[in-house]
Amino acid sequence: MSQTAPQGHIPEEAAGALLRIDLDALVSNWRTLRTQAGGAETSAVVKANAYGTGIEKAVPALAAAGCRTFFLAHVSGAIRARAVAPEATIYVLNGLLPGSCGHLVAHSLRPVLGSLPEIDEWASFCRAEGRAFEAAIHVDTGMNRLGLTVSEGLALAARPELKDFTPALLMSHFVSAEERDNPLNLRQIEAFTAVRNALPGLPASLANSSGIFLPQKPHFDLVRPGYALYGGNPTPGEANPMRPVVELEGRIVQLRFVETDETVGYNGRWTAGGRRRIATVSVGYADGYPRSASSPGRSGEPGLRGMALVGGQLCPFAGTVSMDLLAVDVTDAPESALVRGGPVTLIGGPLTVDEVGRRAGTIGYEILTGLGPRYRRVYTGATL
Ligand SMILES: *Cc1c(COP(=O)(O)O)cnc(C)c1O
Repeated sequence: MSQTAPQGHIPEEAAGALLRIDLDALVSNWRTLRTQAGGAETSAVVKANAYGTGIEKAVPALAAAGCRTFFLAHVSGAIRARAVAPEATIYVLNGLLPGSCGHLVAHSLRPVLGSLPEIDEWASFCRAEGRAFEAAIHVDTGMNRLGLTVSEGLALAARPELKDFTPALLMSHFVSAEERDNPLNLRQIEAFTAVRNALPGLPASLANSSGIFLPQKPHFDLVRPGYALYGGNPTPGEANPMRPVVELEGRIVQLRFVETDETVGYNGRWTAGGRRRIATVSVGYADGYPRSASSPGRSGEPGLRGMALVGGQLCPFAGTVSMDLLAVDVTDAPESALVRGGPVTLIGGPLTVDEVGRRAGTIGYEILTGLGPRYRRVYTGATL
């Protein structure tokens, strides 16, 4: 069963690119992570529009599968999640911005409090309202980004403000859980365990996607996967245990031949080393496809560059990715695939989100969260 997203009122024939999002794969990944997490509650991190896949589709699919707790970065996203998941527990990771308590409570959202001033503000709001609203407490164990210091965490139990609200979760975040042998993982687990022991009875959460797969099994009471839900590999260097969720297909707008020494694209950064066939595809950096996947040099030269799958053949980009278009050297693609309007796979098959990220000098996370609003989005999955 498939369906077009509400925002995707682009007729099929006129759509420059098609983004397929497989909600069955998303739910299957959540179940895989839940099994991997043993008895811990498995939440879902759906920040950045559910890593580009769409809050309004991803959240209900996961909630229907049994996911009860969601994490977003901003209040804006959390309000969208609330609209489609009225029963869920929803946390705002970026913490409490001054004066925002009322907005959170109006939508039954819980802040992740990351500093003593945030704790004070939430506690006094609760005192004024006469209700002990829930919140999570974030302790920093190495990231130096958000969270109380470990010593503040160890001393927290003595603070009277803790009685004014309902601490519902103690959390911290891994710095480099995708590096399984990084000694920082163990140091963070130890520091987090110490704070947890100082706040007995509070459910605890440390692991992101990769953290779930660490040999120490730091699952505690709740795990917080994001990237792996959407098909990213939480165990780099090893086989990916997750199913791919997104597939991106651009369409061929024009086909042409270029002769030896002719260049393609802005600033003539790519030169044909012989007679080459070029497909111009209607996807560019304005769609979130990174310009850093551009392909300079001479055709046939080695180098890390963007690739497309055309009729089953991997074909390198030719020249600079522009705003709304990119060029692919399709000389080696089967003739049957080279038709005006024909599809060119940019994410899919061997071009996983991790691989596309690597070829663009970035990470798959950035590829996913950049997935643009101009794509015709087609969702598939039994949960619709
Ligand atoms: C983004 C985020 C996660 C999810 O991380 P992944 O690596 O995508 O699984 C978990 N916890 C926090 C605090 C985050 O910011």
